[in-house]
Amino acid sequence: MKENEAIRAVTKTFINRWKHLLSIKDWDVQLRYTTLDADELGCCGVEPHHKSAMIMVDINQIKDKQELLEVIRHELMHIVHAHFNSYRQAVEKHLPPNVVTVSDEIFSIAAEDLVLKLEHLVNKLDINIKGRHDET
Ligand SMILES: [Zn+2]
Repeated sequence: MKENEAIRAVTKTFINRWKHLLSIKDWDVQLRYTTLDADELGCCGVEPHHKSAMIMVDINQIKDKQELLEVIRHELMHIVHAHFNSYRQAVEKHLPPNVVTVSDEIFSIAAEDLVLKLEHLVNKLDINIKGRHDET
């Protein structure tokens, strides 16, 4: 799909709604369109100490607006566990490289599992992709 002004407006509103729903309203979340590896639609870099995150999305691999919003929501959910990234990085400074490799792999599996469960929960609660439910 192509990025345009309408998509930028939709994603901005969407991110603000989901920041509220995920209790990460105090985070500065930027969205950047870029080229990622094949089959990687999005990724998220976080700086928990500054409460800032950069969501990167490969819009050329995304078929429509619905999928774009799902990818953004997925990446926003990774911000919820951002402090565990800090913990992992602090611990890994003291580990030998081969152990860091294993640690990274286990961390990634755990992080994706957590986000998948959050997505499942949100879908079960019938909060649709627009986050239309009460925001209080
Ligand atoms: Zn993920």
